[in-house]
Amino acid sequence: MPLTLDPQLRRAISDRIRFYNELGIYDFYRRESSAIPSDIQPEQREEMPPKIKAMPEAELFVVPKPEKTAADPAEALRLIREDLGDCTRCRLHKQGRKQIVFGVGNPKAEMMFIGEAPGADEDIQGEPFVGRAGQLLNNMIKAMGLRREDVYIANIIKCRPPNNRTPERDECETCSPFLMRQIEAIQPKAIVALGAVAAKTLLAINAPMSEFRGHWYDFRGTKLAVTYHPAFLLRDPRQKKEAWKDLQMVMKELGLEVPKTT
Ligand code: URA
Repeated sequence: MPLTLDPQLRRAISDRIRFYNELGIYDFYRRESSAIPSDIQPEQREEMPPKIKAMPEAELFVVPKPEKTAADPAEALRLIREDLGDCTRCRLHKQGRKQIVFGVGNPKAEMMFIGEAPGADEDIQGEPFVGRAGQLLNNMIKAMGLRREDVYIANIIKCRPPNNRTPERDECETCSPFLMRQIEAIQPKAIVALGAVAAKTLLAINAPMSEFRGHWYDFRGTKLAVTYHPAFLLRDPRQKKEAWKDLQMVMKELGLEVPKTT
């Protein structure tokens, strides 16, 4: 008698597999052991408790690796965008988002800025950081001697949360595999996390901004620094000089000329 999977478990397994696939993991190995001893015959499984009986065969875990992978960063980003599709993986797709805000900039950027989530302007234009906070981010980039087109800009999540609320943890977890792939495609020399939500999500550390700032972190082999979110700087412009210190730290790392203060 063929083994059948409980539909709920099947869904849970396929969600989990998709999550790993989106992280770029395609090979799965079944641990022989705990749940089903290897010498148990299929027919004997029928007498097992439902959860164990429903354990799938290894073949069920094998998901073909996409044939399309690219060494060229621009092409790699295009494929990631294609995989993302008209995403409905989390609740945000039915909570008023107008469009997905994927990311923008130089696919070969040495530097990547990562914010929190698209706001109203970004949702309309389909591009991150185009509103007031974006104008300030552009000025920050310019102060570093760079142009917006030189860097790559993305967010932790790609859809606007209703009323610009803070992204929920599960929304970040669902969306972040695509961001991880973007980072992998671009291979920046440095990442700057803008604000606490980006820092906490990327580093999986729950700390205040005062602790995040002023250090380099190793993010999957890439240097990561944290500075204030431009929206926060708009609310408290006195902190701009602190943000400038953070950016100077990044400039030194990238070998950019730091202007001498008088
Ligand atoms: N705030 C963000 O975190 N990201 C944007 O794209 C715009 C505002």
